[in-house]
Parts: sequence; C-alpha cells; structure tokens
Amino acid sequence: MDFDTIAAISTALGEGGIAIIRISGPKAIRAADHLFKAKNKSLQSLEEAPSHTIHYGHIVEPKTDRIIDEVLVSVMRGPKSFTAEDVVEINTHGGIIAVKQVMDVILEMDDVRIAEPGEFTKRAFLNGRIDLMQAEAVIDVIRSRSDRAFSIAQKQSEGVLSRKIAALRQTVIELLAHIEVNIDYPEHDVEELTAQFIKDQCQSAIVEIEKLLKTANEGKILREGIVTAIVGRPNVGKSSMLNTLAQDEKAIVTDIPGTTRDVIEQVVTINGIPLRLLDTAGIRETSDLVEKIGVERSKDALKDADLILYVINYNESLHDEDKILLQELIDRPLIVIVNKTDLQQQLDMAELQSLVDKNMVVQTSMIADEGIDQLEQKISELFFDGQLESDDLTYISNVRHISLLKKARQALYDAIEATDVGIPIDIIQIDARMAWEALGEILGDQAGDSLIDQIFTQFCLGK
Ligand code: GDP
Ligand code: ZN
Repeated sequence: MDFDTIAAISTALGEGGIAIIRISGPKAIRAADHLFKAKNKSLQSLEEAPSHTIHYGHIVEPKTDRIIDEVLVSVMRGPKSFTAEDVVEINTHGGIIAVKQVMDVILEMDDVRIAEPGEFTKRAFLNGRIDLMQAEAVIDVIRSRSDRAFSIAQKQSEGVLSRKIAALRQTVIELLAHIEVNIDYPEHDVEELTAQFIKDQCQSAIVEIEKLLKTANEGKILREGIVTAIVGRPNVGKSSMLNTLAQDEKAIVTDIPGTTRDVIEQVVTINGIPLRLLDTAGIRETSDLVEKIGVERSKDALKDADLILYVINYNESLHDEDKILLQELIDRPLIVIVNKTDLQQQLDMAELQSLVDKNMVVQTSMIADEGIDQLEQKISELFFDGQLESDDLTYISNVRHISLLKKARQALYDAIEATDVGIPIDIIQIDARMAWEALGEILGDQAGDSLIDQIFTQFCLGK
C-alpha cells in the first residue's frame, strides 16, 4: 500500500524534558535528514544510516541554520519497524517549546503531515504488521491502570490471544472443509461419520470459546478495577483502612465520628489487582442511611459495588443495624473487617460468626499495622481463586471480542442442533461460516472500514 508521511509527538507533553517525535512513511528519513546535523561528521546523511541505529546531533532550522534542540535520532527502516514503513524517532531534550518548534519545522516540509490519533498503529495494521486484536491491545496498553492490566494488554499486543483465536479458526476451517467436501461429493456415503465429526468439531471449538469467555470477567476486573465500597458505622476505621491500603494520606483520618467529608475514589493495587476504593461522603451517608432510611435503601446504594469491605469495631458490641445489614449482604462479595484488635475486646465473635461465615472475617488493627496481609490475601482469593499466580495472562477483556465470541459460539450451537435434527448440510455450512467470520472479525479479517476507523480513533495522538 502507498501512504504519505506522517509525524506526531509520541510522548505525553508537559512532564519531563524528553519528548519523542515519530515520523513514519516513505519520506520519513529524508524529512529527518533535512533538519538534522549529526555530531559525527562522517555521517553525511541519515539516508546513509543503517537500519536500527541511533545518532546524536542537533535539529537545525533549515532556512536560518539556527540550532533548535539537541537530539538523538533513531532510524528504523521498513518493514522491520512498528508501522512496517521507514520510521524515524527524534528524542528531543529541550522541553515543550523546543518540541513544538521541531514539529513545526517538520510539518513545513512537503508531503509530511500531522498524524491522526492512532494513525501509526492503524498503519501497522493496514501494512499487515499486526492484527486488529493486537492493535486494540495497544489502546489498552495506553489506557491500562495497573501493572497487571498493563502486562495483560502487553501480552495481547504480542499476539497471545490472537494465536488462540487463530487456533479456534483452524478448528472451524477443518469443519468447513469437511462440509464442503460433503457438498461437492454427495455420492460419498459418509453421512453418519460427518454428523459426528461436525458435532465433535463444533463442541471442541465451543469449549475453547467458553474458556476465553470465562476470562472475560477477570479481564474486566483487571482493566477497570474492582469497585470496592468501604462500609461501616462512623469511627470504626474506614478511612484509616483506606489510607493503609493506599499508603498515603489522601483520606482525612479523624477522631470525630462522621467527619470524613471528602469524596475519594482511589485506585490501589493489591497483589496486582486494581481496587477502586470508595470512602466517601456517599459511604458515610451509607452508614447514615442505615439509621435514617433503613437497610433497603442502603443496600441499593451498595448494589453497584463488586466488593464490600464491611468494617466493624472489635472494641464495641455489634450494633443492630450491622446485624441487619450483614444478613442482607451475605450473598454479596463481602469481607468483614474486625478492626481495632489492639483495643479491649467487646465484640461477641460467636454472634458475628452466627451471621457470617468465618472465612469472610479478617481481624485487623490499622494502628498496630496487623492483619493487612490477610486482608489483601482474602481480596485476591475472592476474585481470582488463587489462580492469579499463573502467568497465562490471556484475558479477553474487550467488549467487541466478547460479543463476537458469543456470536461464534451461538453459530456453533446452531450447527450442532441443525445436525441433530437432520437439516441439510448446506444450511449447517452457513452456521459454520458465520462462526468463522465472527472469529475472523476479532482479528480484523472481515472488519469493514468504519469499524477500523472507530477502533483507531480511540488512540491518543502519536501512537
Ligand atoms: P471512619 O470514621 O470509619 O473512617 O474511622 P477513621 O479511620 O476516621 O478512624 C476513627 C478513629 O479510630 C481515628 O482516631 C483512628 O486513628 C482510630 N483507629 C482506626 N483504626 C484503628 C485501630 O486499628 N486501632 C485503634 N486503636 N484505633 C484505630
Ligand atoms: Zn472515614
């Protein structure tokens, strides 16, 4: 494919002194060479530079010979570059003003224009360098909030999931081939065998799809974080717990009941799992709600939480509203934190355990820094069943992928059903083809232009 040459600032502006300007396309090297004076005098022109080399020198305004910035320039020739085209990356050091000036000079050149958001990645896709799933993973890498989500997105962009989808397609293509043969040579009396083969092949594809779909929920959690509500009566230590988990002082910890007025949502990472912790006026209202408007409404307020951390005081006996609310919450992902174990015990543990399973209970002291590890352990067990240690980080987490997998699965179920009731094989072929296409769409094989555009405009500039 023939493309023009595009350029963009690839790193976030504002922070740090270093920014990267990326240029990609047939004129990338010539454009960079026009502005670049190498320190190494033996390098006459960047166009002579071998691929994958880095050069030190200055960016100079061509008309005036004025030095704009001191830079490192890397030259990567296609197809062994991110976009599969010639790529030059200019590492500038002079801060925002210098970067903008360098960019302006580049854009003054003929045939070089500013890249649209996601256009570099789009080119990588259009040049066949990556598939659509990998391209989408690049979006996720840019957006990922936690280290773990990041490494999953990274794995995906390396193509682990793509390979799984490709393997699935292989199963379906075998199925299609078999059906095709049957349509073409109907005189072959293999109907019995064919029916069994179709069903087996569909079934094994379905099993693989289900495995991938099962990871979807975990993937969502890793990507978006577990929405966690910290609930409890005033002064039991909710803010202290938030602080301990977040290890900073963003929540105001106070001795006076009910003075947590700040609205806080903090993302903390526990054993690699991002938790979106809420200890807010809203949550304090939650405990007020219990008193004012009863359990029903407070349950309502908690209904969107993926995890409820219910804090009670070891130094007090159980309050009536705690009893009621705990009973109501028993079926939710719930951990009861008995805090202030450094103080005198007033809580009736037997009574508490008659209300909630003792596996749900953790004892802590935020002051003495005790029980935090157990709490963190419980949280990860609750969501990942201990599996999180595995480094098979192939999570499906993209809504589009999920719905296409479901579509493929449905088509395969339809094929099995059709086979069972003896529907003609060319109808079954339609189902199989549908499954094949849905899987292909995940990788971008059947994707229409509008879909591709929609995906790539999600990128920030310069990627
Ligand atoms: P919240 O109203 O539930 O958010 O409670 P805070 O976190 O604001 O804590 C209320 C008071 O209890 C503060 O004085 C904390 O220092 C204190 N506190 C919190 N955790 C503990 C604990 O484990 N032991 C003791 N002794 N005091 C604690
Ligand atoms: Zn508080």
